[in-house]
Amino acid sequence: MRYDLHLHSHYSDGMLTPTALVELAHAKGVNVLALTDHDCTDGLAEAAAAARTADIQFVPGVEISVTWQDITIHIVGLGIRADDETLMHGLARLAAARHERARDIARRLEKRKIHAAYEGAARLAGGTILGRTHFARFLVQEGYVANIGQAFKQYLLRGAAAYAPVRWATLEEAVSWIRSAGGQAIIAHPTRYKFSNGKLRKLLADFKACGGAGIEVICAGQTPEVTARCAALVREFELLASVGSDYHGPNTPWIEPGRLAALPAECTPVWQHWQGVTPAAMS
Ligand code: AMP
Ligand code: MN
Ligand code: MN
Ligand code: MN
Repeated sequence: MRYDLHLHSHYSDGMLTPTALVELAHAKGVNVLALTDHDCTDGLAEAAAAARTADIQFVPGVEISVTWQDITIHIVGLGIRADDETLMHGLARLAAARHERARDIARRLEKRKIHAAYEGAARLAGGTILGRTHFARFLVQEGYVANIGQAFKQYLLRGAAAYAPVRWATLEEAVSWIRSAGGQAIIAHPTRYKFSNGKLRKLLADFKACGGAGIEVICAGQTPEVTARCAALVREFELLASVGSDYHGPNTPWIEPGRLAALPAECTPVWQHWQGVTPAAMS
């Protein structure tokens, strides 16, 4: 079985529709797929329908933005009921915060004589979620920067010219929303935050204390050293292990759905109790 439990559609900052994403993943040999758009579940129904057609197992998911110790981290929810009131209210709050931040980013760009960035970014969004990636694409499209990486570096990363701070959910909130919706909470790409080992262990302890289930042990393009570090952490904290490409679209051709290293044998996979769950029951 080939699992990929972290992918984005154009309902957040991915490039593809949920249908195109599921079809691509299927073509790449994925058997079990989770759609995990940033702070939104709008693509889940379409992805579930496409997964039924392709005969692959679908896991409804989400990737929630969290502010923990003043730093943004991401918590993936797997196996969520998207119509859960608590989750819906929480995500609505984050979507509103995104729009406020987007206005703020646009104001800061305006000061640098980059006009109508809000409208430009919104035009590039496939749904209602607005993110920095949409501003980055707008800046590339209008010729202000050469590529997406440059757009982040020059304008959108913390400390850059148009960076706008935002307060996301707390760690406790994100985990409780996911659990309220019947899902498992997973720390996304745990080594991408560049935390020291001490800080990462503090995050895992906090996460575990509020009911977190696991962490992503396998991400796309990861070195064996990083995998070993994550595997040691799941053992120490008795967490489950997840795997995900964090695929956003064909613009990053070095990342492909389902092209992931195997989980180390000593890790307990997050899907250990999923066996027998039919696509219909998960969607
Ligand atoms: P947001 O949630 O709107 O703040 O945007 C975060 C998203 O921006 C991440 O999920 C990535 O898809 C993308 N991103 C963050 N940093 C970079 C970067 N340095 N280069 C390219 N994309 C990035
Ligand atoms: Mn993203
Ligand atoms: Mn993420
Ligand atoms: Mn992601």
